[in-house]
Amino acid sequence: MSDTLVDASVRVRFAPSPTGFLHIGGLRTALYNYLFARRHGGRFIVRIEDTDRERYVEGAEDDILASLRWAGITYDEGPDVGGPVGPYRQSERRDLYRQYIQPLLEAGHAYYAFDTPEELDAMREEARQRGEAGKYDATTRLRMKNALTLPEAEVQRRLDAGEPYVVRLRVPAGEVISFHDHVRGTVSIDAGEVDDQVLIKSDGMPTYHFANVVDDHLMGITHVIRGEEWLPSTPKHVLLYRFLGWEVPQMAHLPLILSPTGGKLSKRKAEAAGIPVFVKDYRAQGYDPEALVNFLAFLGWNPGDERELFTLDELARVFSLDRVGNAGVQFNMDKLAWYNQQYLRQRPVEDLVEAVWPHVRAQGYEVDRDYVRAVVGLMRERVTFPQEIVTEAPYFFEDPAGYDEAGVKKRWKADSADLLAAYADRLEALETFDEATAEATLRALAEERGVGAGRLIHPVRLALSGVTYGPGLFELMHVLGRDACVRRIRRAVEVLGSAATA
Ligand code: GLU
Repeated sequence: MSDTLVDASVRVRFAPSPTGFLHIGGLRTALYNYLFARRHGGRFIVRIEDTDRERYVEGAEDDILASLRWAGITYDEGPDVGGPVGPYRQSERRDLYRQYIQPLLEAGHAYYAFDTPEELDAMREEARQRGEAGKYDATTRLRMKNALTLPEAEVQRRLDAGEPYVVRLRVPAGEVISFHDHVRGTVSIDAGEVDDQVLIKSDGMPTYHFANVVDDHLMGITHVIRGEEWLPSTPKHVLLYRFLGWEVPQMAHLPLILSPTGGKLSKRKAEAAGIPVFVKDYRAQGYDPEALVNFLAFLGWNPGDERELFTLDELARVFSLDRVGNAGVQFNMDKLAWYNQQYLRQRPVEDLVEAVWPHVRAQGYEVDRDYVRAVVGLMRERVTFPQEIVTEAPYFFEDPAGYDEAGVKKRWKADSADLLAAYADRLEALETFDEATAEATLRALAEERGVGAGRLIHPVRLALSGVTYGPGLFELMHVLGRDACVRRIRRAVEVLGSAATA
């Protein structure tokens, strides 16, 4: 295991747009950035990209930050913690972007365009009819209303008259744009594939592309680690860095997260597969944040050996972009459940008692913490979520309301009522009731009657729990206590006495 590679110059960022709650894929992006920063002894920054006011969702930023906190992903600089290159919300940096558009306009790398939304629609429609993509590029430009086709005086006149305009990037024709990506190697794209991206919108706000590049530069970002869906945007960003005379940060585009049925894990596919989309849903469902983070770490990365369990600190010591694959990775709920079980088993008992307690209270069960501690001890190996200790084993808290039908059919024999009645009598007569005496009594009775112990064990379990599975029977009896055991056995004899099938 390697230690921190000290490169304090490393600065990475998670740059969510507050257009909704934090998505599970977003948490993976944040996690990889966090791990990369920690591994290198660098800084991890959160920047809120909220220039798109139309898609802005009230409360989304709070949810994103709260979800990161819940997952244990702390950041060194961000909107609520500040830092040396703030503000960390793009809406608060609005005035700053304009000064960087001026040199681009002057050098001819950007231009004003006055096309109305209707004109743009018409252009796209015409292109569609010709079977083309409808890009605004070197060819389209000639037919549109923009500073490259209008006389200079006309441009000035329109600006002076306050006509709405946007500022577009002038993508050079006939060039191949290349960059190195840590995950994909060299990526090359024909500039002809790239349209003249809008940099400043008609409301004066920068687009994502422009603000993102300006901020990554001003915030000293050394590595851009983000989802694969941003790969097609990168050539535009590379051009912008070049035209602004800035160094391009190192790029790493993380592999797609795939649905179990194949294809990108869209919201619709996730819902169809029972995969929660938002981090807050995992939280509400009782997932352990450490388990979720461990699971997410493996969604695109692996340590190169068989080990699967890593705390966040351990991950931060071994994480490397070299071990991030470029093939899409399938989201597997069973694997996540497995992680949750592993972490649940490692949690201190007291911690689990705390987690289970509200569920016990919510059901109105009148038991104390010592009792819950004993139940936790028996159930922790058998559940995925703490609350299942209550929901999967209600028999610890109340007498069974009925008996599993298939179980009765299989386990309740002609002699069961008789055997169980005798067992209840003997339990009542015991001087000390505990695991050992409950077991010895049962075995002695079975032997006397010339039957196998199973002939008692199975129906007794049914009587106590209503079901045919659960923790060891005698441990269960010990936790339930003699009164409950005797009462439940007698009750089953009464209810099932005649249910015998053999
Ligand atoms: N604001 C973009 C998002 O919402 C950030 C993409 C990037 O990291 O550059 O994902």
